[in-house]
Formats: sequence, C-alpha cells, structure tokens
Amino acid sequence: GQGQSNYDLSFKILLIGDSAVGKSSLLVSFISNVVDDLAPTIAGQERFRTLTSSYYRGAQGIVLVYDVTKRDTFTNLSDVWAKELELYSTNQDCIRMLVGNKVDRESERVVSREEGMALAEELGCLFLECSAKTRENVEQCFEELALKIMEMP
Ligand code: GDP
Repeated sequence: GQGQSNYDLSFKILLIGDSAVGKSSLLVSFISNVVDDLAPTIAGQERFRTLTSSYYRGAQGIVLVYDVTKRDTFTNLSDVWAKELELYSTNQDCIRMLVGNKVDRESERVVSREEGMALAEELGCLFLECSAKTRENVEQCFEELALKIMEMP
C-alpha cells in the first residue's frame, strides 16, 4: 500500500431505488459493523418518486439498488429509475453501480444473478449482489465505487 495518506477524500454518492430495498440499511451497514433489523425508513418524500435535479447535481457515484426477493424493485430500475437518471443526471461521467440487496434471503430470491448482470451491462453499471444484514459485499460496493471515481480523469 501507499501508507497513510494525510488528506481526506469526499465523494457525493446517491443511492436510488424503490422504498424498502435497503438503501438506508446499506449505508448504516457500511458505516457500522452491525445491522440488527433496522426499522423500515418512514420517508415521506419517497411517496414522491421523482427527485429534483438538485438531488442529482454533482453526484460522482450512483448506486441503483433493488431487492433480489422483489421483482418489481428490479423492473422499476429500468422502467423508472434509469429514465429519471437520464433526465436529471448532469454528470455523464458519474460512476454507476447496480446492487442486488438481501442475498441473505436466498430461499426467497426471484431475481437471478444473471439477470442482474445483464441489466448492469445494459445500463452501463458495475454490478454486485450484497446483504446489508450480513454485510456481505457491502464494503466492496462502496470501495469499488470510490476506486472507480478516483480513477476518473
Ligand atoms: P430503504 O427504504 O431502501 O432505505 O430500505 P431500508 O434500509 O429502510 O430497509 C427496508 C427493510 O428491509 C428494513 O426492514 C430492513 O431491515 C430490511 N433490510 C434491508 N437490507 C436487508 C438485507 O440485506 N437483508 C434483509 N434480510 N433485510 C434487509
């Protein structure tokens, strides 16, 4: 490694996707070591699916999250969220990552890994499956995103 750096880096990263796919949990899971059955986010603003362009402005990374146990959350990414992204995302160089969350519920899975990979290719995204609950791949998700952002010219 390069040893300790004497500076901090800060990135603007957005998490988008349907309500209850685990966006808040992924963040909490990333910054803490334990996620113990988080209460679902009661976020009034989520009733208004469309976000304003100011939310997207200056974003360097965008994480598109779906729940591997709920097909609607997967199809909505291409039908709704990706379209909104095209409308509002002003930064074309923004790094995108498609994330299939809740892989700890393998027995309830309805969206296959192959489908996820195919959508990621279609949308020009990196791809990972993870679990905010077990923390599987959670650090990898944000680290890979940060690395790709730093690689940008
Ligand atoms: P958000 O609305 O997208 O921010 O979703 P939340 O983070 O509020 O999560 C919604 C619900 O899903 C909560 O009850 C979480 O505990 C649960 N949840 C989130 N991530 C996972 C996961 O990886 N596995 C399981 N089994 N449950 C999860």
